Amino acid sequence: MDNLKNFSDEEIVKMIKEGKVTNRELTDSGICPTCFNKEHNGVLFGDDSEMILYEDDTIECFLVGNPRAVGHVAISTKKHYKDMMDIDDEVCTKVFTFARKAMCTIREVYGAESVYLCTMCDGPMNHFHIQLIPRYDYEKRGSKNFVKPRMEYVADPEKVNVLRKELK
Ligand SMILES: [Zn+2]
Repeated sequence: MDNLKNFSDEEIVKMIKEGKVTNRELTDSGICPTCFNKEHNGVLFGDDSEMILYEDDTIECFLVGNPRAVGHVAISTKKHYKDMMDIDDEVCTKVFTFARKAMCTIREVYGAESVYLCTMCDGPMNHFHIQLIPRYDYEKRGSKNFVKPRMEYVADPEKVNVLRKELK
């Protein structure tokens, strides 16, 4: 595949719809899949509005589509930053103040024993985000909770409603 930067956005959208372009190819061409998806009506990830828990001008918080635990949540910035080292103090305060609130809420709503936080954006193209991963009382403590196997997302509209209300 030639560098996708040689194509117009419209051409790339068409190729994505035809299944000819993967996220990795976008990344390898220096195009952020998160931003491209947002700028082109969810062409990559589809309509994920039912998973959005909170959003404002700076951040958004959503349930992860391939979670490592029930209640696995991510928080990302609206604007493109490549990682935590790329954000300024104001954005940092905003993200982590919100993260603390979200952790407390997840613990309460899902009955988790604890909630872990990680961020590991790396590589040539990444969109800054942090992950909140619940640990339940039947799970051992420790760093293995960061790499629990991915599971299928199961919609739970009742919990989503409570989370949205608490995170407002
Ligand atoms: Zn981006």
